[in-house]
Amino acid sequence: MSEEARLRENICAMARSIFDRGLTAGASGNISARLSDGGLLVTPTGSSLGRLDPARLSHFDAGGRLVSGDPPTKEMSLHQAFYETRNEAGAVVHLHSTHSVALSVLPDTDPDNVLPPITPYSIMRLGKVKLLPYFSPGDPGMGDAVRSLAGKRSAVLLANHGPVVAGKDLEAAVYAMEEMEETARLVMLTRGHGPVLLTEGQVRDLVRKFGLEWEN
Ligand code: ZN
Repeated sequence: MSEEARLRENICAMARSIFDRGLTAGASGNISARLSDGGLLVTPTGSSLGRLDPARLSHFDAGGRLVSGDPPTKEMSLHQAFYETRNEAGAVVHLHSTHSVALSVLPDTDPDNVLPPITPYSIMRLGKVKLLPYFSPGDPGMGDAVRSLAGKRSAVLLANHGPVVAGKDLEAAVYAMEEMEETARLVMLTRGHGPVLLTEGQVRDLVRKFGLEWEN
């Protein structure tokens, strides 16, 4: 099987798994992944992550031209902004996952670091997650907001909308997105109960030990 055929299958299988576990609903959510020739495979507009056809994924060449498949997601600007600003990005996942969206609208969420340090794993997979403002659907301003971070963050949370996460490859991006939603769920479950969080020293130790992006 060629690299492209394998990536097409992997995108559809991971998308189905995301959908089947209720991490995004209806026709929400989209995934893109980079091919080694610089091209991109992207989930089509209006498609459900639960029922993607590998042959109909939008295929862009390295010059950004749609060469085959259905038209891409209307949220393409989010994906492009990550690829343009983070050389290491090999895949981008965006969902409307419930607990992350809930966290995005609560007044005591820290806009520079939306996930309190509940476990080491969100810190290791996501770094600091930035809250970005609300944009109406399809507004290319979403992409500009990601670009304004100059590639310093691998994960953002759009207010009243949902998270966007980049990873070095498809698996890394999906696993980081799962960590985002699970941590948001833990935050919601423990909020108001005086949770004991990791200390600043414990967070610093993780950043040093694993060479994490954290200071920006
Ligand atoms: Zn969206």
